[in-house]
Amino acid sequence: MIHFNRPFLTGKETEYIRQAVADGKISGNGEFTHRCQEFFEKRCGFRKCLLTTSCTDALEMAAILSGVGPGDEVIVPSYTFVSSALAFVRQGATVVFADSRADEPNVDAAQIEALVTPRTRVIVPVHYAGCACDMDAIMDIAGRHNLIVVEDAAQAIESFWRGRPLGGIGHMACFSFHETKNVISGEGGMLVVNDERFLRRAEIIWEKGTNRAEFFRGEVNKYGWVDVGSSFLPSEIVSAFLWAQLEHIDEIQSARRRIWERYYDFFSGFSPKAVRLGLPKIPDGATNNAHMFYLLFPDLVSRTDFISKMRAQDILCVFHYLPLHSSEFYLRYAKEHAPSAPVPASLPNCDRYADTLVRLPLYCGLGTDQDKVLAAAKEALS
Ligand SMILES: *Cc1c(COP(=O)(O)O)cnc(C)c1O
Repeated sequence: MIHFNRPFLTGKETEYIRQAVADGKISGNGEFTHRCQEFFEKRCGFRKCLLTTSCTDALEMAAILSGVGPGDEVIVPSYTFVSSALAFVRQGATVVFADSRADEPNVDAAQIEALVTPRTRVIVPVHYAGCACDMDAIMDIAGRHNLIVVEDAAQAIESFWRGRPLGGIGHMACFSFHETKNVISGEGGMLVVNDERFLRRAEIIWEKGTNRAEFFRGEVNKYGWVDVGSSFLPSEIVSAFLWAQLEHIDEIQSARRRIWERYYDFFSGFSPKAVRLGLPKIPDGATNNAHMFYLLFPDLVSRTDFISKMRAQDILCVFHYLPLHSSEFYLRYAKEHAPSAPVPASLPNCDRYADTLVRLPLYCGLGTDQDKVLAAAKEALS
């Protein structure tokens, strides 16, 4: 069986966990947490990084920090993971869904502009497959309407927009270290705060609504309950694991890139008679971080046929998001809680990616199994 994803270990994960245990510091905000946070602050120039237990948690922190509540609107693409929208729904805000672009799955900036109302507070661009949204257009819209931009950079580690690292452009950004991402810690995530306005409160929300971080730095002489918050910080066991991955980030990225490029070269030189395949498009100004390799089929029938033929050869290829705007939860929620929010009947591009996109196995260690994937794909498509 060739899996769609397998977690890749660099070798030092358990050693660093053992070290954290031996040092007698296994709760959060210790040495490994600081190392990981500083790694991103230095490498990417992010103003402040806070490790979280997931990207979902980082999005929830961003939703709290953005100050949204009932009556406020947040623009989110429909073609994304649940958490990009759920974090804001939990704060009582109304999520308004935007369509993808016709030529790639990322959100269409022109669509965002059309959805802005006097109640809009936040835009959540999601960098699908680690490929940048048009951040110039999005920051421009946000600037003109005084909106907060929270990048969902869950898939976007080591990727750029016009030379700037993704996660460093919006007011805040959220990364994931879930086992399906490029750099992993099992479950894990990170909030990036680029805007000074949110810095102090971010740390407080992270530490269960207390000013404990300031106390440990000696800035206040006692700490207490000063705000809302939750237990968003991971234990040192998780950050020790993550640190072992970050030490090898360049190797991980170059191994993934080789696999991605081999897929791309193969499929761009291969035009099966039976179906016309679409390949990933990297727009001008964006980069490819080899998070994901996908193919676009002409319709649901041909994609389903491909997935089952690959499955018959013991290779797992998987489709991706079901549109959030027509999800069971959102249809019910919109009726009950947000009658003012327009439920789009269809977002045609989003619906099309939901039906036609398929992802191929891509992980460090795929090795010669990639030959089998390519041979099987050739057979399935002829
Ligand atoms: C993976 C992912 C998330 C959620 O990440 P977790 O760390 O599992 O919470 C959110 N948004 C996008 C776009 C993702 O790909």
